[in-house]
Amino acid sequence: MRQILDTIKEYKKIIIFRHFRPDGDAIGSTKGLQAILRATYPEKEIMLLNADYSDYLAFFGGEDAPQEDEYYKDALGIVIDTSVAKRISNKKFELCEKIIKIDHHIPDGSSYADLEWIEEHRSSSCEMIAAFYECFRDELKITSEAATYIYCGMVTDSGRFRYREVSGDTMRLAGMLLDVGIDTDSLYSNLYTDSIKAFKFEAYAKSKAVISENGVVSIFVSKRMQKKFKLSKEDASAVVSHLDSLRGCLIWIAFIEGDDEIRVRLRSRFVTVSELANRYNGGGHACAAGATVYSKKEMKALLAEADELLGKYKNENEGWI
Ligand code: AMP
Repeated sequence: MRQILDTIKEYKKIIIFRHFRPDGDAIGSTKGLQAILRATYPEKEIMLLNADYSDYLAFFGGEDAPQEDEYYKDALGIVIDTSVAKRISNKKFELCEKIIKIDHHIPDGSSYADLEWIEEHRSSSCEMIAAFYECFRDELKITSEAATYIYCGMVTDSGRFRYREVSGDTMRLAGMLLDVGIDTDSLYSNLYTDSIKAFKFEAYAKSKAVISENGVVSIFVSKRMQKKFKLSKEDASAVVSHLDSLRGCLIWIAFIEGDDEIRVRLRSRFVTVSELANRYNGGGHACAAGATVYSKKEMKALLAEADELLGKYKNENEGWI
């Protein structure tokens, strides 16, 4: 953290990056760090330059306008919440003079940065940004806007502080942010209310979910279904969180049909699914991972592997619910 702060101090221009298809943690950590650095160093240029956006988090406002290649050359790049280079939203990140990576995903052995700070046990990258601020609070300035961004990522990536990575540190850092001042009524209303179409789709999706022999819950969200319910890709992908509450069903998977591929979102309790995701062009965390398959045949193969994994887990372990 000291090396990162010293490097930030050396540069006049800092560009912050994140992964594509951004979630609350990717948006919160990058906007949060930008707000802290802008408040602390008004003389520096602190930019957020990414190539895609999130409708779900549009209430936080946009990012900075695209820049020509030349702009990147004397900048420090900070990539947050992104384990591998291919997932970085803005491919121009490589043009930066120096690159720092801050992340909480399991690394795959490859590296895209000059300086890395990776803590897999952290519940979110936002928790790391909060820890960074806390570590240098005599030098850095925070605003309630920054606290709100960071708190948003901590809440969303920890499933509202439920997942196993949530530690005493998580709660202490969240408390520190609340002390700065956050309008939680507005934040939670923005995060956790649905449109009527999403509300109706949730009921439909639950009625269409399939349960395998050993208890893997899955749903295939076809393009036809997406069209029928007028769902954006983001709406369709959110379906995975509606499959999480069946007793004994420790793995749940959503398959979202795209034009050329099927996006796979894997979630679990107790059982590790990231290795399964690795075998299908993916990765992520032990209990929340993503992958991609290219045919229904491959989708069925993944499901069969998930079912076998769960059967084995249940045979060899006790205490699961
Ligand atoms: P998702 O279901 O896409 O939200 O993914 C769950 C978690 O796994 C997120 O933290 C993602 O950043 C991560 N993830 C998804 N796909 C990949 C991938 N292909 N490689 C590495 N990590 C991934």
